[in-house]
Amino acid sequence: MNGLQNLGDIQGRIRAAARRAGRDAGDVRLIAVSKRQPDARVHDVLSAGHRLFGENTVQEAARKWPGFRAEFADAQVHLVGPLQTNKARQAMGLFDAIHSLDRPRLARTLARLCAELGHCPRLFVQVNTGEEPQKAGVAPGKADAFIAECRDLGLPVIGLMCLPPADEEPSLHFALLQKIARRNRLSCLSMGMSGDFERAVALGATHVRVGSAIFGPRG
Ligand SMILES: *Cc1c(COP(=O)(O)O)cnc(C)c1O
Repeated sequence: MNGLQNLGDIQGRIRAAARRAGRDAGDVRLIAVSKRQPDARVHDVLSAGHRLFGENTVQEAARKWPGFRAEFADAQVHLVGPLQTNKARQAMGLFDAIHSLDRPRLARTLARLCAELGHCPRLFVQVNTGEEPQKAGVAPGKADAFIAECRDLGLPVIGLMCLPPADEEPSLHFALLQKIARRNRLSCLSMGMSGDFERAVALGATHVRVGSAIFGPRG
């Protein structure tokens, strides 16, 4: 598994997808999702100059990233997995952005912590576009009200995130997320993974979250 060649390939495919969509390739950021990957593979990608990573849990990020950041001070880490309210304080110290804001209680906790600590990660509201009962995210029909609630709390919501159902055409979900973002004047869209990031770029993704296509299969 050659992570560096994969990284270059994915970056090239993102640029090509952006060009095909008439978009500026610089408007699409690649989040290298390093969850459950061996540290050596992540270190290779850092050494190659990549600086934006995604993790799925507070616990794993807390184990891994203080060490990497000591060596690569400008590395940025985004939380792409769910956040329990009782881990919110720890998350504030670990992540530059959180992609999984999806409920009022978490919004209130984050607002309180941001005021107390004087800084706040950028936030994405996660939308459960497939309305899957087991999946996190606010229902599409409740997204506008929830975004407004977050804004009233003063939270820095910059965009929306979705994780489409595994067995459906993701483009339908990406298009829905784009529509909700537009009507709420949100500029960022976190969507697209290893199998579908080009389709996400075509529908306006500003942050694609790619793991296994860069690093190989997870442990
Ligand atoms: C694991 C994960 C990814 C990356 O998935 P790949 O299929 O390995 O690219 C993206 N987003 C979230 C929320 C994830 O949990």
